[in-house]
Amino acid sequence: MFKKINHIGIAVKNLDDALSVFQDTLGMTCAGIEEVEDQKVRTACLPVGESEIELLESTSPEGNIARFIEKRGEGIHHIAFEVDNLEAVLEELKGKGVQLIDQKPRIGVGGIKIAFLHPKSSNGVLVELCEARD
Ligand code: ZN
Repeated sequence: MFKKINHIGIAVKNLDDALSVFQDTLGMTCAGIEEVEDQKVRTACLPVGESEIELLESTSPEGNIARFIEKRGEGIHHIAFEVDNLEAVLEELKGKGVQLIDQKPRIGVGGIKIAFLHPKSSNGVLVELCEARD
């Protein structure tokens, strides 16, 4: 069902500060910065092999990322797995009793279809599923 880890989302207070760590210190390269308005985040993607690190900075104190950092501090926010047919996978997981945050796919960073599962259903880990474009 899951093809690979597409990316790991990391909640950061300040994207520019985090970028200087991940680029200048860790030697990664930023492939793009994008704001996703409905999720109230500014993101930076840094490819690592077949996967990416997705740095997430909140654009609003009310945003999910701001609330996450308030509660738990900066750090890993979610893991995103790549699937072939997101609608079908969501139906299958729903049938297995998995709690979904998104009942239907929505559009995430990079314009790809994404959906989140409830962390209650995966040992406290927020799981994102995404369907890569060919
Ligand atoms: Zn993500």
